[in-house]
Amino acid sequence: MDTIRAIKGTQDILPVDVALWQQMEVVAQRILTLAGYREIRTPIFERTELFVRSIGTATDVVSKEMYSFTTQGNDDITLRPEATAGVVRAFIQNNLYASGDVQKLWYCGPMFRYERPQKGRQRQFHQLGLEALGSSDPRADVETIAIAIDILKTLGLGNLSVTINSVGRGDDRDRYRQALIDYLTPYRAELDKDSRDRLSRNPLRVLDSKDERTREIVAEAPKLVEYLSDTSKAHFDRVLSLLDNLDIAYAIDHKLVRGLDYYTHTAFEIQSNHLGAQNAVCGGGRYDGLVSELGGPETPAVGWAMGLERIAILLQQQQFVCPTQTDVYVISRGQVAEDVALAIAQQLRQAGLVTALDLSGGKFNKQFKRADRSGATWALVLGDEEVARHVVQAKQLQTGKQYEVTRTDLVAVLRGDLVPAG
Ligand code: ATP
Ligand code: MG
Repeated sequence: MDTIRAIKGTQDILPVDVALWQQMEVVAQRILTLAGYREIRTPIFERTELFVRSIGTATDVVSKEMYSFTTQGNDDITLRPEATAGVVRAFIQNNLYASGDVQKLWYCGPMFRYERPQKGRQRQFHQLGLEALGSSDPRADVETIAIAIDILKTLGLGNLSVTINSVGRGDDRDRYRQALIDYLTPYRAELDKDSRDRLSRNPLRVLDSKDERTREIVAEAPKLVEYLSDTSKAHFDRVLSLLDNLDIAYAIDHKLVRGLDYYTHTAFEIQSNHLGAQNAVCGGGRYDGLVSELGGPETPAVGWAMGLERIAILLQQQQFVCPTQTDVYVISRGQVAEDVALAIAQQLRQAGLVTALDLSGGKFNKQFKRADRSGATWALVLGDEEVARHVVQAKQLQTGKQYEVTRTDLVAVLRGDLVPAG
């Protein structure tokens, strides 16, 4: 019989890698908390309509990447391909705007997109992201970018680059869209197939085609920045000067438009030079129209999401070392000793020591080998004779030194608060 394998494009995160994932979460959580962000957890599925209305039907995500299905109760449901739509829905539904304060929210969890799996691109992947709802101040854009960089740098990632653009407001984009269509149409036959499709449906996406000839054509295309209104231009200029103030290096990329429809003004990406084709670790921008579009009050907002699989790949390349350590490995043999060993292990755990209990009941020397392999600082050895005398043999695995310690002194010795005799 065939064994059942995980679904294509999904991945098990095994215990050897979990420490690395926890590290990402711990670092991010600390930095986000310092910046006044609070976590929000929304469902991993939502009404399909939520994504269609927020992300837009002409985007790749909605037109071909969604995991959508009809439930037994006839509801059209989609596994979330991103979290902003759900967070905004929750913001509206729970009146989070009522206080009038800027809502600073972050989230972390799995997302689902039906894409072609490859390195750094999966069908179930994880994003950590934030949303700042309620401010149109360019400082909000820059503060969020700075927080993203803080997280990535604190994790030890170097070689990052920030690219930024302004996609303006809807009216700026409408004017630009027409100019772009007018420019591209004469070249229609020379564009790659995807770009030909996009030309009428979503011409801005032609700008980020990977096809060589399309890129040559696009290089000479009119630039969105030339179509920005004075207010949009002022917003963008202010964002750039605030980035300069914070010494955040960036490159303006006139072709950066990002995949989702809801962006306004600032669009940005953070790339790593160590990732190959899937090099974006973080993407985000402003989305001033989304909250009202989904039926909430007019609320300017800005946010980003980072791809944790891609960051994990980078950390692995840097030989991330697992910070967790076993303090004590408990070895026992003999009916009475084995029972006492279990009780001691529990006592040590309650005292805050990371304790592994050997459950094999096998020969002492085999148990010792496992103790060595565990990387523990101490091995505790218990036979029936030790139990009778209320003592334990404590062996320091690095030095090989062994001490006989009473049960009363045990925790203090293992913690290093008491120097054992002998
Ligand atoms: P890409 O250009 O790589 O397809 P995107 O523009 O579709 O990215 P966003 O929707 O902005 O990505 O998501 C933010 C981040 O989430 C990306 O920068 C990336 O790190 C990560 N990401 C997106 N899609 C995937 C995926 N299928 N597998 C793994 N990570 C992903
Ligand atoms: Mg994508």
